[in-house]
Amino acid sequence: MARYTGPVCRLCRREGVKLFLKGDRCYSNKCAIDKRNYAPGQHGQRRSKQSDYGLQLREKQKARRIYGVLEGQFRGYFDEAERKKGVAGENLLIILETRFDNVVYRLGFADSRAQARQFVRHNHFTLNGKKANIPSIQLKVGDVIQLKEGSKDSALIKTIVDNLGTKTPPAWLELDINDLSAKVVNLPTKEEIDIPVDEQMIVELYSK
Ligand code: SF4
Repeated sequence: MARYTGPVCRLCRREGVKLFLKGDRCYSNKCAIDKRNYAPGQHGQRRSKQSDYGLQLREKQKARRIYGVLEGQFRGYFDEAERKKGVAGENLLIILETRFDNVVYRLGFADSRAQARQFVRHNHFTLNGKKANIPSIQLKVGDVIQLKEGSKDSALIKTIVDNLGTKTPPAWLELDINDLSAKVVNLPTKEEIDIPVDEQMIVELYSK
């Protein structure tokens, strides 16, 4: 399945919650969820009772859309989460949260996960001192990412760097503003992953 390239605010309206896909706009009064909090389309304002399957499907879609992951890759993450020790739903959230692009976003190096993905693809960061441009790379405890020296000249990145530190990164990441680098000091706990998704419903969906 191809990556969704349509208007992203539609996705939030479809899910009925803010998925924070557009950076600063999501915090402004231009947010489509604040203005029109009903599903898009002709029948969007009709209320319909959802089946258990429908509710589980929506939770999975929310998680996929928040992290910008395609269906096949998401299913692969779930299989990996099930193979790991511990609770599958929590493992799934940790796998998603430790993606390279998400870490860049969480640190404040990008306004949205989509922008973070683009920055990683465009080689703006190193991982453990080496070139790394794959957004889905899973980071581990001890991994260090750093903004490349040459990337600091970009006007867009310069603005972001100037605002770095205005949002507090999660405790599992250690940001060094002077060095424009960061280290993964722990894996995130479920409590530290603040996304509006009931991961247990995703487990139920895939366990059918
Ligand atoms: Fe979603 Fe952000 Fe658009 Fe609001 S502005 S609907 S949170 S993507």
